[in-house]
Amino acid sequence: MALLLLSLGNEYQEAEKQAQSEVETLSRVLEEHALAIVQQVDLVLHDVQSHVRPNDMRLRHMSGDASARKFHALLKSHHDDVPELSLLHLINASGEHIHSSLAVLPNVNLADRQYFQRQKNEAAAGLVISAPVISRVTGNLTLILSRRINFGDGRFAGTVQASLDMKYFQHFYHSLNLGKHGMVALYDQTLSLAARYPPSEKDMGKISSLDAKLFIQNGISHATYHTKSSLDGVSRIESFRQVGNLPLYVFAGIAENDYLAEWRRHVWQYGIGLVIFSIMLIMIGKRQRLAEEALLKSENRFRNALEHAAIGMALVSPDGKFVQVNHAFCDIVGYKQEELLNLTLETITHPDDVAMDHTHIKEMEAGKIRSYEIEKRYVRKDGRIVWVQNTVSISRDATEGQRQIIQQVQDITLRKELAQQLEHEARTDFLTGLSNRRHFLELATQELIRVRRYRSPLTLAMLDLDHFKTINDTYGHEVGDKVLIELAELCRRTLREPDVMGRIGGEEFAILLPQTTSAQAYEIAERLRAAISATSIPIERGLPVRFTVSVGITSFVSSDTNIDMLLSRADKALYAAKREGRNRVIIEGKSMQAT
Ligand code: GH3
Ligand code: MG
Ligand code: MG
Repeated sequence: MALLLLSLGNEYQEAEKQAQSEVETLSRVLEEHALAIVQQVDLVLHDVQSHVRPNDMRLRHMSGDASARKFHALLKSHHDDVPELSLLHLINASGEHIHSSLAVLPNVNLADRQYFQRQKNEAAAGLVISAPVISRVTGNLTLILSRRINFGDGRFAGTVQASLDMKYFQHFYHSLNLGKHGMVALYDQTLSLAARYPPSEKDMGKISSLDAKLFIQNGISHATYHTKSSLDGVSRIESFRQVGNLPLYVFAGIAENDYLAEWRRHVWQYGIGLVIFSIMLIMIGKRQRLAEEALLKSENRFRNALEHAAIGMALVSPDGKFVQVNHAFCDIVGYKQEELLNLTLETITHPDDVAMDHTHIKEMEAGKIRSYEIEKRYVRKDGRIVWVQNTVSISRDATEGQRQIIQQVQDITLRKELAQQLEHEARTDFLTGLSNRRHFLELATQELIRVRRYRSPLTLAMLDLDHFKTINDTYGHEVGDKVLIELAELCRRTLREPDVMGRIGGEEFAILLPQTTSAQAYEIAERLRAAISATSIPIERGLPVRFTVSVGITSFVSSDTNIDMLLSRADKALYAAKREGRNRVIIEGKSMQAT
């Protein structure tokens, strides 16, 4: 904008300067033109002066007399030589026409004319140029140039005078091309208008009030200035010059509307251009602002969404530092937001799960995987362990290329506990708290695999309550249950840590004794049997309930490929114990016979 303004300013000054130089040149040319005409006319006046004899001025001569013919021919020939000259006359001392360039002598008296009075009264007036006057001969606006003629004794004899018809100047000024509103004019020293283009009929011959008056009154012979014409109201740059040292002034003017037209067009063009440019800038700015606002809004939305998401979310830098965490995440790990921002992911991860995290994150950074989902543990601020389902992905910030790890975290502790409980329930007998049949078989099978590999001893004992049906029938089912619970408790008290115990039927139990020979097992079983038989369960009415068990024992042999083989042998021994009177322990095989 500044450059445009500067350029427009320069252009304005340039146009101004050029117009000024044009009007100055023009006024100079006009001066030359007017001066040349006056000088030429003055030569004519001199020439005629030199031909005049005192007698020629005395009378009004009759046409056809020799003197009249001579002067008419002289004046006519001058008139013809100088086209600007309209009339050439000799006037006698009383103001009468005595010789003329015209064929007929005008019968007009000029004694009252100011220029005539001056010639009459001032012997040394020399060349006198009249104010623009209406010619009494032609009726046209005319400048009259005159010189005095004297008698031999120096008295005033008359004048020789030439008329310059202003129509001629008018025509010449018209032919100059000065732009649509250009102006050219000729004034006398009183600023009475002699000729002008464009024409202004009402002002012809009258004194105009011009700005130049001040210059002229102060004897300044030429100047250039801005003015608004009092004649036609047009603003122009004008230049005037005095014609030689004559009482004549020429004016030239170029209208601002003309010489500034191009500049004004440029102002408009630049102005419109600037307006369009500004509108575009404003629109672009507005769009940018809208886009920025939208981005900010969407960022805020994202931040809000993250902040208030129901699941825990955390942004973590590649070196494990928390960059942003939401409320839900804080709730899960029990830390405040500002605390977490000073911690790393590793410091709150359960030590056993750190390695797992590392492996996954490395794979993700290497681009092998895009995300992963794991179940892991955090250590809460209060030391409690919290299980979480953790979905991890990597984000790449488009502008900065900064990678961030996005952690989505759901607390699954409850689910984990429930699953553990269910798992426990699925393998536990609800009445006695011992392993149920299925779980016992699982454990026993594992033990069997181990034993087959390491060839260590393993013994299985099977235990069945004696006449349990009768106990149920006599005391009721509830007491029967109490018996089962008490039996399980006695087993637990008697057995060792590695021994596996299970309730494999209604009132049938199995005991797996690793690292135990059948003989050692027999002792244990016997101790248990004795303890059981010594136990009684008090009831509300009547004597306490007493009960016994029968036990069958068998040991692993290398041909055993599954636990059923052991179970069925133990069952045989148990059957033998029942058969032989119950409340006893029988070892399967040869001891069965021994017993
Ligand atoms: P024996 O083994 O000495 O030959 O005689 P028994 O009376 O124990 O014979 P059997 O094995 O036929 O009877 C088992 C009984 O155990 C039948 C059933 O009513 C009872 N029983 C099984 N499970 C439960 C239980 O959970 N609670 C109670 N109260 N009784 C049970
Ligand atoms: Mg039974
Ligand atoms: Mg029984």
